[in-house]
Amino acid sequence: MAVIALAGNPNTGKTTLFNALTGSNQHVGNWPGVTVEKKEGKLKSDKSIVIEDLPGIYSLSPYTSEEVVSRNYIVQEKPDVILNIVDASNLERNLYLTTQLIEVGLPVVVALNMMDIVQKQGDVVNAQKLGEVLGCKVVEISALKGKGIDEVTAAAVATIGQKAASVEHKFSDEVEVALGKMEEVIHDATDDACRRWYAVKVFERDAEVIGGLSLSAEQLEQAEAITAACEDAFDDDCESIITAERYEYIASVIDDCYQRNTKDGGLTMSDKIDRVVTNRWAALPIFAVIMFAVYYLAISTIGKQMTDWVNDTLFGEFIPTYLGGWLEGLGVADWLNGLIMDGIVAGVGSVLGFLPQMMVLFLCLAILEDCGYMARIAFVLDRIFRKFGLSGKSFIPMLVSTGCGVPGIMASRTIEDDNDRRLTVMTTTFIPCSAKLPIVSLVAGAFFPENPWVAPSTYFLGIASIVISGIMLKKFKFFSGDPAPFIIELPAYHLPSWKGVIRTVLDRAWAFVKRAGSIVLISTVVIWFLKNFSWSLQMVEANESILASIGNVFAPIFTPLGFADWRIAVGTVTGLIAKENLVGTLGVLYGFGSEAGEAMWPTLAKAFTPVAGYAMMAFNLLCVPCMAAVGAMRREMMSKKYTWFAIGYQCGFAYVVALMINQFGSLISYGTNYASFHVVSVVAAFLVLAAMVYLLFFKKHYDPAAEKAKELKETVTK
Ligand code: GDP
Ligand code: MG
Repeated sequence: MAVIALAGNPNTGKTTLFNALTGSNQHVGNWPGVTVEKKEGKLKSDKSIVIEDLPGIYSLSPYTSEEVVSRNYIVQEKPDVILNIVDASNLERNLYLTTQLIEVGLPVVVALNMMDIVQKQGDVVNAQKLGEVLGCKVVEISALKGKGIDEVTAAAVATIGQKAASVEHKFSDEVEVALGKMEEVIHDATDDACRRWYAVKVFERDAEVIGGLSLSAEQLEQAEAITAACEDAFDDDCESIITAERYEYIASVIDDCYQRNTKDGGLTMSDKIDRVVTNRWAALPIFAVIMFAVYYLAISTIGKQMTDWVNDTLFGEFIPTYLGGWLEGLGVADWLNGLIMDGIVAGVGSVLGFLPQMMVLFLCLAILEDCGYMARIAFVLDRIFRKFGLSGKSFIPMLVSTGCGVPGIMASRTIEDDNDRRLTVMTTTFIPCSAKLPIVSLVAGAFFPENPWVAPSTYFLGIASIVISGIMLKKFKFFSGDPAPFIIELPAYHLPSWKGVIRTVLDRAWAFVKRAGSIVLISTVVIWFLKNFSWSLQMVEANESILASIGNVFAPIFTPLGFADWRIAVGTVTGLIAKENLVGTLGVLYGFGSEAGEAMWPTLAKAFTPVAGYAMMAFNLLCVPCMAAVGAMRREMMSKKYTWFAIGYQCGFAYVVALMINQFGSLISYGTNYASFHVVSVVAAFLVLAAMVYLLFFKKHYDPAAEKAKELKETVTK
């Protein structure tokens, strides 16, 4: 089977092209780092050809784990053709990788993507000439608009089985001489096609490549002598020599093949918009207004109306009347009727009811993402995060997590620094994901029907929790270190691709429905049984059930938080399997008969105060994510110890935040006249606040040099 591998910088349209070539549905994100694992598909027009979508890379000298995936794949698995996707509107940066790919010695076809943007800017690329200078076929395409796809497919397919063209780019004479000698040294360890690439890598002292070649001690010595001599001659280190010469060459290529439009004063529409939305002062307020509008639209207005219809009409009247009537007509046993109506319909129904709100929210987020706005936010937040020693790179996983925490956690792979990566894995699920949305909608609808701020506030609570945790934890040795540099190219704004946006929304909606039909369904059945039977398997009132007795063990933990109710305790635990289970569980435990969906809201609202309701929501949003996300955390951290630490931290953080919300919120709203008022709880809340203020503003950063000095002093005084 022939293999065509898609390689290119992040965010150049690889996945868009992959989807067009294979007809599959991989997620396209308008920011770097969405594809962190390679994906495989078959060419639509010829099923015997495999297409590999590789994670984006800037060069073949990998720094992060997903870059290693790409390089190892290219160098070791040797696809038949490398289809290099190049963002034509950012040619200089992109060609850096292209020149390296050509050296690998595999046939390369360059797809000049984003030609629509280039044309709009009034620039002109001479593809023919570019192909001649680089020594490979170059095809102009627009993956988004579907232009040039057939041509690039034909070019790639025609290249299968051919030998790679010779490398056109030559370094300076001195370096070429050194590389020539290097090729002789590593001659037996490499084959002809890729020898030049290995020579460059060994010259650069790439430890991983050298390790993989199993050179003899003598060869290693000779190689080192060649590099060292060259470094002496240039008075520069080996990697910089190569990099500098590469960029020099690229500059000359661009001079020859790219004509920039200088008429419009160089300021594109995108630049003008960016002046406003990334403005130092206006950026954050604009972001806040936009996110407020998104949540308001989804949870409080359009989405709410649709959800109301589903709840009132579908699960409130239609299903109870017809399904209930039908079951009665069949003469099923009372218990089975109860299981279906009070268990499944009430539980699954209360979760599914939120589907319309979720879809509106995802529609808005997908549009914001695809048009390029979210990439700006990563850039803006980086500027702010940096002041606190955090990197804006942590923001990308957070954006992905608004859909689902699992890919969000995986997206942390783009962060080079181990400490920063762990920190991001630990905190990224604070952002409300799709499964947490029903919890938000439930609390907003039941306790705060008139208040449009509750739903958007959860998003800001998530971001605040990430930032606050980041600042606090960064000060400890475990997580200390300078933030990694964060380079994000701001993609030019474009109208969202409706196909892509709708696909994202439908994908997420379908995943949600599937979970409702599986995990939530099974959980509600189990909950229904446990709620109706006592330990001696007698049918009893809910309050005397197995479930109540278990829930009552945990409930007191939540007393200071204001929601010491066995039903919430049970819901919190079932929420660990899947977060929307909390809502399904409350549907079974608070809903009665036909009172599924919205009809249970008044019952819930009477159970505790609005402030306690908000605390309950905050606790469930911030505490440990679902099992799947914990699994992802474990895989990405590759350490049991850190995973347990993360779980402990998340629970603890959620608990103290909910404690402060309930105690301070209640003191302000109800004076001391509330059920969970207790001097100890109030004092505890103040102590927690004081500790946080100390950690945020007064504790000094961990300083390795100072620690060393202290140690030294101690040993000396001993
Ligand atoms: P990847 O990171 O390389 O896989 O890139 P994606 O396929 O995820 O695309 C990144 C962004 O670029 C998305 O917002 C796409 O809609 C957009 N995009 C892809 N191809 C084109 C194109 O030809 N023209 C324009 N204007 N945008 C494109
Ligand atoms: Mg991708």
